[in-house]
Amino acid sequence: MEIIDLNNFLQRFKLNTMHEMSIAMNLVDLAVQTAKQNDAQKINSMVLEMGSLTGVVREALEFCFESACKGTIAEGAKLEIINIPGNAVCEHCGHRFSGDQVAVPCPKCNEYVFNIQGGRELKLKSVNVD
Ligand SMILES: [Zn+2]
Repeated sequence: MEIIDLNNFLQRFKLNTMHEMSIAMNLVDLAVQTAKQNDAQKINSMVLEMGSLTGVVREALEFCFESACKGTIAEGAKLEIINIPGNAVCEHCGHRFSGDQVAVPCPKCNEYVFNIQGGRELKLKSVNVD
């Protein structure tokens, strides 16, 4: 059995919780809307594609998701998160590289000028309903 000290948990994510809470609420809203448009009574699970450069803390989002679902047809639903790795092209040397942080230099030429090509996605991919 695992016991989580809620206070510690919240404190750990204090800086990010507002952000994740609004994401979770938007996510649940969208899923509920989608489900209702399809005459569904209950949401069992949903799949979220999340880029690793979004800055979203996965644990915080999962935690907020649970409370965002309360009182909706998504209550008790499972959240599956698919991680999309960060991907960038260096504008200086054209090198394509992946990474999970924005503030890193190009591994080839050490410049900081690059275009982010992927990793900023935050997309509801599917909703599983009854
Ligand atoms: Zn470069």
